[in-house]
Amino acid sequence: MREFDRLLITSALPYANGPLHIGHLAGAYLSADIYARFMRMMEKDVLFVCGSDENGAAITIRAKKDRVEPQKIVDTYHTLFKDTFEQMGLSFDVYHRTSSALHHETAQEFFMDLFKKGEFIEQESEQFFDATANQFLADRYVMGQCPNCDYEEAYGDQCENCGSSLNATDLIHPKSTISGNIPQLKKTTHWYLPLDKYESWLKEWINNGTVDGTELHRPEDWKNHVLGQCKSWIEGGLNPRSMTRDLNWGVDVPSEINGSEGKKLYVWLDAPIGYISATKKWAEENEKEWEPYWKDDKTKLVHFIGKDNIVFHCIIFPAILKAHGDYILPENVPANQFMNLEGRKISTSKNYAVWVHEYLKDFPDRQDELRYYMIKSMPEQKDSEFTWKGFQDANNNELVNNLANFVNRVIVLTNKYYDGIIPEFDMDMEFESAGEDGLPGFHDGELLALFDLLHELSDHIRAYNFREALKVVMAISSRGNQLLQFNEPWKLVKDEENEDKVKTIMNLACQHVAALRIACRPFLPFTSDKLSELLGLPAIEEKDEFLLMQDNLAEGFPIMEAGHKIGKAFHLFSRLDDKAIEGQLSKLKEMSFEDFKKPTANTSAKKETKSAVAFNDFTKLDIRTATILTAEKVKKADKLLKLELDLGTEKRTVVSGIAEHYSTDEVVGKQVSMITNLEPRKIRGVLSQGMILMAEDNEGKLCFVSPEKPWTNGASIR
Ligand SMILES: [Zn+2]
Repeated sequence: MREFDRLLITSALPYANGPLHIGHLAGAYLSADIYARFMRMMEKDVLFVCGSDENGAAITIRAKKDRVEPQKIVDTYHTLFKDTFEQMGLSFDVYHRTSSALHHETAQEFFMDLFKKGEFIEQESEQFFDATANQFLADRYVMGQCPNCDYEEAYGDQCENCGSSLNATDLIHPKSTISGNIPQLKKTTHWYLPLDKYESWLKEWINNGTVDGTELHRPEDWKNHVLGQCKSWIEGGLNPRSMTRDLNWGVDVPSEINGSEGKKLYVWLDAPIGYISATKKWAEENEKEWEPYWKDDKTKLVHFIGKDNIVFHCIIFPAILKAHGDYILPENVPANQFMNLEGRKISTSKNYAVWVHEYLKDFPDRQDELRYYMIKSMPEQKDSEFTWKGFQDANNNELVNNLANFVNRVIVLTNKYYDGIIPEFDMDMEFESAGEDGLPGFHDGELLALFDLLHELSDHIRAYNFREALKVVMAISSRGNQLLQFNEPWKLVKDEENEDKVKTIMNLACQHVAALRIACRPFLPFTSDKLSELLGLPAIEEKDEFLLMQDNLAEGFPIMEAGHKIGKAFHLFSRLDDKAIEGQLSKLKEMSFEDFKKPTANTSAKKETKSAVAFNDFTKLDIRTATILTAEKVKKADKLLKLELDLGTEKRTVVSGIAEHYSTDEVVGKQVSMITNLEPRKIRGVLSQGMILMAEDNEGKLCFVSPEKPWTNGASIR
């Protein structure tokens, strides 16, 4: 394995058109923060960078909707992000932004360098154009149906449902998000990165971890789902990708280049360069060199992202870095999957989320409680689930009952028995071991067990298994609890004969609290500070504390010396009652309904009165009564039910998007209205032969349009 002198850690730049939700935290931020904090405590040279992603079409769309300047939008969210991250204890060394002059310069230099090297192909193509708005429709200005998963609200650059990266022209039934019109195709010229040209080295780099025979990473260290996505991209064949856009917001294509007028850099070209400009900003402010972090092959670069960004970080950005020539490639991209919320996908556009800044208002002193639950249920290998009940259980059963109770007992008893002074221990003293082997315990043996746990924790963090690592932290607390439970020093203390035994046990219990202060730091930094206070120690600076602790224990030395005076007891965590949780659940319900009332770019068209059609056109539709015979859920589609209907003379199969409104049991036997002569369409592999008519209310709820009384199936509706 390669040795590294320094570590550059990046978290995906959050996009500045909406606040942060728990899914963001669980995706790219907590994981990176754990890794950065741990590595600092292992005496590594760590630089942890992030910033706001403030360019691209979604910003201008949002600005238009809110009737303000784009700068106002990015300023608002940049400030909110910075504040939210700080409050949640994210330990970025720099938090930059891509609307800064430094970033514009950096991104333009990069573009110019590639341009001069002849890495781009200039190409004319036809792109969507909205004639009413008189502008090209870049990326999020177009919405339509995803060609891969049939999701109806896919964007021109990406489908948020299946994560696939798209070209606007791939969308089925494309629609301008400005006017709702069907866009026209119009010719325009752009600069393309010929990804196909890099295919062979990308393949070697992804599959074998080597470039030109040099080992750069070990593929077995990469997560399976990351490798899988990369391989399927490469196997599908890489195509040239446009690196510029027709937009009026973002980084200008350098003016030295002919035809650059009105063109901006593609946001996914400039956003990862944001990591570089953030590094420059940090170097400027700290009088350091930025280049070793990006250009020295003794630097290990790790990108923490969500799964929707894999292709950009594993294929496009590496291709750009390699084309430039001076830059290192990422050593790992430990992307997380998605976190769902109470059984549904988190959605910014549908306002269905737990917003982190609102959580902080409702629970101002419970940052670590949220961090704990999010890490415990982090979507490391597959999608995971946030539930308020789960949050409450984790808080009450694990943080309060295990961690806080153990620590409180140790601090209270040490103060009570020894005036807060850590007692001496007797090396030969026997007591009940906290382990399960039934052998007697000794002070040094228990320290060794602690050492083993810390070693295990360290291995998990290095392998990006943060859930497992967190379990080890709790195991340290459980072991400390056992030590007290098995030996019951509060009983032993009543007999003077046991004085040395109680001292030895209490000394060990204090060592467990001291280990927790350092071991919990990457996960629960606020709790670590409280533990420092309880132990009468200075707050952890994150320099080499973990390494020192391991070295001490390996030599058989305790973490804290006898004779040290600890602080006074207070509780680390408190219970969460049902009321607090119910409040959050009803808030979630209100939020998601609230949004259905607000017309958004994609739903407003539905609510408007439609323009007149000729009577002849109406009569072309064959609408009939039908009864639902069977219903089943369509696999991997939250909204879809597959229905079998009786039309009197025949049976039909229809796929209908009503699964969020009706259970399968509720619909069987219902008589409904059905359009029978729509062209059959394959939805998720099922051929749908018609459409059920539904009435939609202001809250977005749906109900069937049914005959007034039971009627013959197949009756014509006119
Ligand atoms: Zn899709």
